Amino acid sequence: NMHATTRPVRTTCPYCGVGCGVLATPLPGGGLAITGDLDHPANFGRLCVKGTALGDTVGPNGRLLVPRIDGRDTSWGEALDLVANRFSETIDRHGPDSVAFYVSGQLLTEDYYVANKLMKGFIGSANIDTNSRLCMASSVAGHRRAFGSDTVPGLYEDLEQADCVMLVGSNLAWCHPVLFQRLTAARESRGTKVVVIDPRRTATCDIADLYLPIAPGADAALFNLLLSEVHRRGMTAGAPVEGLEDALAAAQRGNPAITGLPPDDLARFIEIWCANERVVTVYSQGINQSDSGTDKVNAILNCHIATGRIGRPGMGPFSVTGQPNAMGGREVGGLANMLACHLDIDNPVHREAVRQFWNAPRMPEAPGLKALDMFRAVDERRIKALWIIGTNPAMSMPDANRVCRAIAGCDFVVVSDIMAQTDTTRLADVLLPATGWGEKNGTVTNSERRISRQRPALGPVGQARDDWRIMAEVAQRMGWADAFAWTHPSQIFAEHAALSGIAGRLGSDFDISDCAGWDRSQYDAMEPFLWPRAGARQGGRFFGDNSYHTPSGRGRMVQVTPRLPPATTPSAAFCLNTGRVRDQWHSMTRTGTSPRLSRHLAEPFLELNPCDAESLGVSPASLARVTTARGEAILRVLVTDRVAPGQPFAPIHWSDQTASAGRVNALTAPLVDPVSGQPALKSTPASIAPF
Ligand code: SF4
Repeated sequence: NMHATTRPVRTTCPYCGVGCGVLATPLPGGGLAITGDLDHPANFGRLCVKGTALGDTVGPNGRLLVPRIDGRDTSWGEALDLVANRFSETIDRHGPDSVAFYVSGQLLTEDYYVANKLMKGFIGSANIDTNSRLCMASSVAGHRRAFGSDTVPGLYEDLEQADCVMLVGSNLAWCHPVLFQRLTAARESRGTKVVVIDPRRTATCDIADLYLPIAPGADAALFNLLLSEVHRRGMTAGAPVEGLEDALAAAQRGNPAITGLPPDDLARFIEIWCANERVVTVYSQGINQSDSGTDKVNAILNCHIATGRIGRPGMGPFSVTGQPNAMGGREVGGLANMLACHLDIDNPVHREAVRQFWNAPRMPEAPGLKALDMFRAVDERRIKALWIIGTNPAMSMPDANRVCRAIAGCDFVVVSDIMAQTDTTRLADVLLPATGWGEKNGTVTNSERRISRQRPALGPVGQARDDWRIMAEVAQRMGWADAFAWTHPSQIFAEHAALSGIAGRLGSDFDISDCAGWDRSQYDAMEPFLWPRAGARQGGRFFGDNSYHTPSGRGRMVQVTPRLPPATTPSAAFCLNTGRVRDQWHSMTRTGTSPRLSRHLAEPFLELNPCDAESLGVSPASLARVTTARGEAILRVLVTDRVAPGQPFAPIHWSDQTASAGRVNALTAPLVDPVSGQPALKSTPASIAPF
């Protein structure tokens, strides 16, 4: 009986993509004692503040405890019947593309697999997308263009083995703190050079040997300059690539002045990169959350591919994902344009292989709606039934006021969540209580492709059920009992592993098929492991052998013509940047319940350069009204030279539930990268006035 035990349970932190191992020990009076897992290869016992405070965030506080229909408590039976009937009726009347699922990088891989199987194999639509679209879709698209597959080439230990680490658009110190600790320790012991490239002087700059305050959005111009230079120095000779000449021609046409960086800084950046063969370029949302994010990713990948600095110890490009299971979601095909096990929805052979494996009645023939298009379709009433699982789009999507209106106007909205009161739960017709971290049982994959277990240390709160089970129960009621008959997540994991073997034979890099025969006890005893598990690359890196997943086997260079963010205007003279703070997570539904996590920064704010504060006549700690074409927010002014003139910054975490008019995504625009569909969230033209 897990409730009686006081032995520590080995599990994984549910916040950022570092994926730290956690020991959670149930306390006699309820709650959990938390320590870092010394044996987990992501963190070796380290935890950041958010991980350490996990014990504060469990228990019934604020939780959704029972199913609800139109605001009244009901039974699971009635709620599940209604969801199944309404989805079936809508599909019968309007076709499979009239329904959609919007899911989350918070889900476990098993949850994600079931959602994907239900939508793509049985409902027969690809209208399933995830909040990971806001996080790393541009990295996925960039990887696929360059490598022929969505493969992260390197490992965390590369950051420790590198002679130089470039951090681009990544506040690693706050957003991936344990990886930052590992880098800091390596720097102290072996003198790793650290270069930080970011318009905002973040806490990460504290360890920078060189800090480049680049103009917003000019990253591709910087890496194009680098490509030209490494080529001029003869460093691109011999790498097996395609498209070098075209990529170079585009790079050489560039104008380095748009980086806004002095020539001396540019020269030092190039010297450091060229002098250190062991170089890792870490990038995150500053690159991805842009309307040219995929091109920026490829501008970085170009430099590593062209010089062969990839997939060998201490070198390579490294996308650090924001969410705990963004990678697991990619593995099961959680995005509208992917199939399970890194197979391709556009490929008829892949579709047929998955259809046969699932014994699926119908499969979509084309990608579904990506997140922003999905909510546009909801707004236009083309989507008539929507199921939102483990995420809070009314607060986290760009142009959030319109998203709110869209959800409110949808015929039938189901929300599965752990919390009762969020910006999104209040718009639901049916609310389904889900188990949360500490109760859930399954797997997650971190940024270096390491699969770890989340294990339950507590029983479910109230009547909460696991997400995979809720979806399977709806699928059974929709008439697909056999395909959704699992009784334990280990069976889902084994099924996914078996499918990965078929995918592997079709050329997919994701193959964990030696787990296909695992029983529950093997699953329960799982140690964290890296994929691929077998073959020459077992537990290792990709592409160091210069063999890529493209048809030619060579790395593909991409022509990148830098594009800058939307221009500011006299009436919207500021370029508004957004991002995270150290101690909060997403829309604060969980971290907001921990008093100690609110000690760091307790309310929404606007970082403003002293020159701007003076010219606007706003004083420190006063309130300012920020207005964009989409909406407005009222924020406390924090005057600081961490931000450049004209480039204010506001954190994303607060919502109308937690701070009046502090919802920053009411300001951001629904502008997306044309390749990946990822929205631009870091450069919205805005005006500011005293409030
Ligand atoms: Fe959790 Fe990330 Fe902190 Fe590790 S670094 S404890 S995964 S939030």
